[in-house]
Amino acid sequence: MPRRHHLAPRASILRLAPVQWETTVSYLQRLASRHHLDTAELLRGLGIPGPLLHPECTRPHGPYTSIELYLNPASRSLIADFAGIPEEHLAHALPQWNGHRDKPHAAPPKARLRLAPMHAVTGCPHCTLARTGQTHPVPQYLPDTALICQRHSTWMLGRHTLAGTRLPIEHASLRRAPEILAAHRAHVRFLKRWGPAADHALALAMNLTETWRRNAPADERIWPARARRIGDNKRARLWYALAREAITYPETITLAQFLAHHPRTLHARERPGHAHPLHTAVADLLGRPWLENPALYPDQFGNRITYTVGRHPYPRSRWPYRHNPYDPGPTELTKLGYQPPHPRAVPGKRR
Ligand SMILES: [Zn+2]
Repeated sequence: MPRRHHLAPRASILRLAPVQWETTVSYLQRLASRHHLDTAELLRGLGIPGPLLHPECTRPHGPYTSIELYLNPASRSLIADFAGIPEEHLAHALPQWNGHRDKPHAAPPKARLRLAPMHAVTGCPHCTLARTGQTHPVPQYLPDTALICQRHSTWMLGRHTLAGTRLPIEHASLRRAPEILAAHRAHVRFLKRWGPAADHALALAMNLTETWRRNAPADERIWPARARRIGDNKRARLWYALAREAITYPETITLAQFLAHHPRTLHARERPGHAHPLHTAVADLLGRPWLENPALYPDQFGNRITYTVGRHPYPRSRWPYRHNPYDPGPTELTKLGYQPPHPRAVPGKRR
């Protein structure tokens, strides 16, 4: 590509590249702050009538915005010209860049705030530092397979609250859980090989393992042990809920592959006096005899894939318990079965 030695009339000399999957709000905030402005000042300066910015958007680099800023075509080209980045590059990197409900091109520049159709999570801090040279968090619409950074052994957890208070933990370290990184490689291979058929099996497996994690009996040792390793032996019960998807991830992927390979097992009939063939097969597959318990399976679950409450309508790219556009807030841990230890609980008083 020939190098350009001149700048477009409005272009800033400070070029700022977007981060892949970044929210538009985040990119504009970074662009503005690069010029010692806030987002509203930047928009005003470019002649884009700004919407009343939500506090979450005006806070510099606010993570996990589900409120997104949508630009119409005229304002998009103003921003691209100013940033000195071709519009198609911005459209490629920023998933919601073209999400404005477009009116004809002649319309004057406009920007509006709207709820994004998916949640952003704070991207890998090490990658962000390498990419932007800054430690400011960059919220990104990461696809499921990118919730794990193999390079830095990091899991992106998303936003959580504990009893209504924001929990400042957004990442889990997988350095002591190599089996999760291995499962991630298997996940990517599985998707490549099976395409959309894998989504169905993955959604089902994710729902099942999450149900099992919550109802696991005391003799389940592997999941709590994984939680302890991820949490570095601190607050293991909290990590058991917080990193729930990571904790059951190896089993989720194994189960999804099994379901994809053995669709008939889903519909096998139960013989009187015997455990259901599917339950037996799953218990054997995952090495957990307690999974023969029929109570751990939804009724006729082979025929139903939508039994989980709050399942995201975009199962193809999203984990079921994380992203729900109708519930744009963070995930409340007590709703996931986590009970914080009560500091003043008196031993022996229970029951
Ligand atoms: Zn990384």
